[in-house]
Amino acid sequence: MKKRMLNAGVFQGNLLLVNGSYPLRAACGREDLVPVAAQYPKALLKREAACYLRLLLSRVGGLSCIVPVSGYRPAQEQAEIYENSLAQNGEDFTQKYVARPCCSEHQTGLAIDLGLKKSAHDKIDFLCPDFPYDGICAQFRRYAPQYGFVERYPKGKEALTGIAHEPWHFRYTGYPHSLFISQNDLCLEEYVAFLKGFSQENPLRLPARGKTVTAYYVPAGGESAGLPSPNRAGRPGWPGQTSAAARFDCSDYAVCSGCSSCSVCSVCSSGGGYFARQVSGNNVDGFIVTLWGKGNE
Ligand SMILES: [Zn+2]
Repeated sequence: MKKRMLNAGVFQGNLLLVNGSYPLRAACGREDLVPVAAQYPKALLKREAACYLRLLLSRVGGLSCIVPVSGYRPAQEQAEIYENSLAQNGEDFTQKYVARPCCSEHQTGLAIDLGLKKSAHDKIDFLCPDFPYDGICAQFRRYAPQYGFVERYPKGKEALTGIAHEPWHFRYTGYPHSLFISQNDLCLEEYVAFLKGFSQENPLRLPARGKTVTAYYVPAGGESAGLPSPNRAGRPGWPGQTSAAARFDCSDYAVCSGCSSCSVCSVCSSGGGYFARQVSGNNVDGFIVTLWGKGNE
């Protein structure tokens, strides 16, 4: 039982690397998906990501002018988008901007394309929405890493990501991984490879306002030392265990100080849980364990 969960867990979690080399192996459960905002019922994200995106949009005052253009896409929709783009835009454009079916982050429920709506009649491009580097979009970019989001396809990383520079595509990795990624100018391909250099004995220290947060890599298939047991109660954070994964003290997170309107807060305030340990698969060959210490340990 444990072995099966270990294997399945490699393909679940906030730190999944999904690209042309590592297709998505486990479909995102529909029950985990919620609309980012009530006025855009079709733009879905996983609950935790949607919650933090809403908080981020509200922090920068962007709820009315920043439009969630495309969030979760089922495999079928990604296949249609890919085929339509091939027919309409040709192979060159499609290879640059549209991931092949099962190689798209949009199928994880952790990626969102955002567009800036400048006026009520502004028509937003579906594949390449305008999301500039100034004004309110600059504010969004400034705060995004504090809310668990990174710009996933930055300029200069095209050879690593396999996707052209996409200023509009953001990916939820969870805080404080997002902060480390952006402060060190990494793309997710680089970060997932970098984390493999850290073990339980020699973990990576992550920046996180007044908290001690460390992370390390555990290879799949070998000794499972360092991994919390997926079956033991009181060990939250195992990927796929939705209720457990949402059980954390929001004061540990950078941003949410108990708004009690978001799903994360309502769970944490009712359960009073302490999110000591999170586990995410990397979709490649193992797990990333994130440990939250209680204050400045
Ligand atoms: Zn996208």
